Amino acid sequence: MKIHEYQARQLLDDAGIPVPAGHMCTTVEEAVAAAEGILAGESSMVVVKAQVHAGGRGKAGFVKVVDSIEAVQDAASFMLSNRMVSNQTGPEGLEVNRLLVADAVDIDRELYLAITTDRANATNTLIASTEGGVEIEAVAEETPDAILKLPLHPVDGLSTEKARELAQRLEFTGDQVDQAVSLMENLSRLFVEKDASLAEINPLIVTPEGQVMAIDAKFNFDDNALFRHPELQELFDPSEENADELHAREFGLSYVALDGNIGCLVNGAGLAMSTMDIIKLEGGEPANFLDVGGDATLEAVTEAFRIILGEEQVEGVLVNIFGGIMQCDRIANAIVGAAEEVGFEVPLVVRLEGTNVDAAREILEQARTRLPTMQTATDLADAARKVTAAVGVSA
Ligand code: GDP
Ligand code: MG
Repeated sequence: MKIHEYQARQLLDDAGIPVPAGHMCTTVEEAVAAAEGILAGESSMVVVKAQVHAGGRGKAGFVKVVDSIEAVQDAASFMLSNRMVSNQTGPEGLEVNRLLVADAVDIDRELYLAITTDRANATNTLIASTEGGVEIEAVAEETPDAILKLPLHPVDGLSTEKARELAQRLEFTGDQVDQAVSLMENLSRLFVEKDASLAEINPLIVTPEGQVMAIDAKFNFDDNALFRHPELQELFDPSEENADELHAREFGLSYVALDGNIGCLVNGAGLAMSTMDIIKLEGGEPANFLDVGGDATLEAVTEAFRIILGEEQVEGVLVNIFGGIMQCDRIANAIVGAAEEVGFEVPLVVRLEGTNVDAAREILEQARTRLPTMQTATDLADAARKVTAAVGVSA
């Protein structure tokens, strides 16, 4: 699960990591009021930032440092009425519903600091660089040596000694070293405590007065551990998710919307991936990844068809079920049920194998008049050929 920057800043603040004060706003009026509050204090600058679950906002014009109320008004109304398109969003971009209006700080140095799980090394790893800011991807690509990595001990976490060493390599001086060490220790504690899979501060900054602070933060949390974090569940923003994916989740379906035109209904993530591969091998493009799971109910399978057939771009559907725990006759009944409920106007190719397959074939055969667009396939390759041909792909 991802959260917004303003929520991430709150987590950092609660963990003792310095962040500038700010307010979440949903309208231009709120943004103006928040900015007036900030400008009435010691600050002469505010930063207006779009709150969406993607980065690259600075380069896209969705982070604006300004010094007047008029400019806050302009920035806020621009951000709330335009979709944010960055190198992390895809061309359609994201709708902006929330803004962060924060105290803008002067920056002497921008660094990068993150913790994530290094799967190859089987440890959580602290990643840091003196070259933080909006070009971090280019830095990682072009000068990988500028990215420092420190594996964290699975039980003891980050040792103060290692943190101090790293702080020095990051060119912190004087009492900034202590600030950086304490910040790294707090971040690594927070990462473990919250079952995060990513905690990223970019940039981590040093102000001209020598204060080390976080001015942008991104967190991902392990979905499988969310049950023990009701406080994180509350941070979930459904408007940042694909509506169909959310809907599918309620029925226990793993569904990911894709760009192609062949809808797939498959059981098991591995089979779902091979099905997508073989569709691609035949020159087709899958419209989705959909794993109905090993023990899906008739209701869930019917819902799965409803979701797939509800996608405008779907021109053909491939059902590929290996009946182990999932019985083929159940799928066959769901296909017939879905045909009655939603109607298969697009070509449907069905490949069933495994438990109760004969009963399943019988069910489909008997329903043939209600399924005029259906073809059956003997194996995976045959199925992929038939469905790609049906949507007009010539391999
Ligand atoms: P991102 O582009 O989505 O990662 O958004 P960031 O919050 O990281 O902001 C992008 C860049 O805007 C930062 O790297 C800074 O250079 C600049 N920026 C953001 N907040 C402030 C601020 O408070 N003061 C100043 N001077 N610059 C800021
Ligand atoms: Mg950033």
